[in-house]
Amino acid sequence: MKCDYDIVICGGGMIGAAMAALLAPSGFSIAVIETQAPAEYDLSQCFDLRISALSPKSMQVMQQCNAWEHLSSMRMCPYKRMRVWEVAGFGDLTFNADQVGVSELGHIVENRLVQLSLWQALRPLNNVDIICPASPSSFRHQNAHTHITLDSGQTLTAKLVIGADGAESKVRQSFGVGVNRGQYQQACLVASVNTQLGQQDITWQRFVSTGPQAFLPLLGQHGSVVWYHQADQARQLSKLSNAALADEIMAQFPSQLGHIEVTGKASFGLQKQHAKSYFAPGMVLIGDAAHVINPLAGQGVNLGFQDVASLAQVLSEAHKNGEDWSSVMVLKRYQKQRKLANSLMLHSMDAFHHGFSNVSPPAKWLRNLTLAAAKAPPLKKRVVRYAMGI
Ligand SMILES: Cc1cc2nc3c(=O)[nH]c(=O)nc-3n(C[C@H](O)[C@H](O)[C@H](O)COP(=O)(O)OP(=O)(O)OC[C@H]3O[C@@H](n4cnc5c(N)ncnc54)[C@H](O)[C@@H]3O)c2cc1C
Repeated sequence: MKCDYDIVICGGGMIGAAMAALLAPSGFSIAVIETQAPAEYDLSQCFDLRISALSPKSMQVMQQCNAWEHLSSMRMCPYKRMRVWEVAGFGDLTFNADQVGVSELGHIVENRLVQLSLWQALRPLNNVDIICPASPSSFRHQNAHTHITLDSGQTLTAKLVIGADGAESKVRQSFGVGVNRGQYQQACLVASVNTQLGQQDITWQRFVSTGPQAFLPLLGQHGSVVWYHQADQARQLSKLSNAALADEIMAQFPSQLGHIEVTGKASFGLQKQHAKSYFAPGMVLIGDAAHVINPLAGQGVNLGFQDVASLAQVLSEAHKNGEDWSSVMVLKRYQKQRKLANSLMLHSMDAFHHGFSNVSPPAKWLRNLTLAAAKAPPLKKRVVRYAMGI
């Protein structure tokens, strides 16, 4: 097997696989190292518990990767409306695709199917090798090359290592890049549900004093319920039987959810994390390896897709212009494009989280004022375009 590559991408999840697909047309020789391949698709499969709201901008990246047509032939759910409101206040805001002249605000997709559709796009490419199951055990950067030893003992070399290996990134740690990190008191419970009511064109989120309660539609009369709670409460809820959890959700959630049946559940801790640098000599970070944000507004993977688009453009242009494309000078251009933008989103989600978790009367007044202000047509249009990434 080949062992000298231009680029080795560690992590073949949604972001690492998209990175390989966008870089491949520039002629780089690429290896993707991943611990676990996504299972092949079968319509009878249960819905993945990990789902994402893909923005139109992320959809464009998926199209450029030639993966959108694969995903469209599997399962996804476009949504046209998005409603946000607070239970004890007057703030109630509905965004509609018509208001910004588009046919949908985004698509709710299963993370595993996004990854699988990207792998399907990578398979025919001669300059991309997927090495799986595999994991790097060490990295040694020397003379403008990195030597990567895999758990199997196999060694690879690369001019550039891209860390797309998620929040606990081994690449980031091995290259000595630190993070600023914080833990939220809340966790979120995610449940796959079958719904009696058809509500497949709207995603909604209601804020109650314990945290947000949200519904995301999936294909057919299926959906995902997301319930933010104190960490121990979320853990307790995830231990209930499916039937008992369904009763609890129906008792606590707004009536528009209607009757549901729970088919799967898990709880996730919430954290925020930002790498102090997005690069080191011979290495660059993308996606959750670089930044983890509160999933409150479902923007995590969308930021990752924007990292992919930006890094692909920077590296391909430098390559085309005959520059040393793996140099620190080139990697700095990518950091300049992405770090501040990601930091802004991270801090906005943080402020949003704290603003909506605060039960004091002034905080409530401010929340209602914010939601009321966001109803004004010009601002509303801006908010929805920002959320859509356009
Ligand atoms: C509860 C919850 C809900 C969310 N909802 C949304 C949402 O609605 N919208 C949204 O945009 N985002 C959402 N997010 C965030 C989103 O899931 C992440 O931003 C996204 O998964 C990041 O993708 P990634 O490919 O960078 O990392 P990951 O998804 O973590 O993928 C990393 C990949 O690297 C592989 N890997 C890891 N270590 C190694 C190793 N040592 N060797 C080889 N391979 C390795 C893993 O197997 C995996 O395939 C949510 C997050 C949570 C916790």
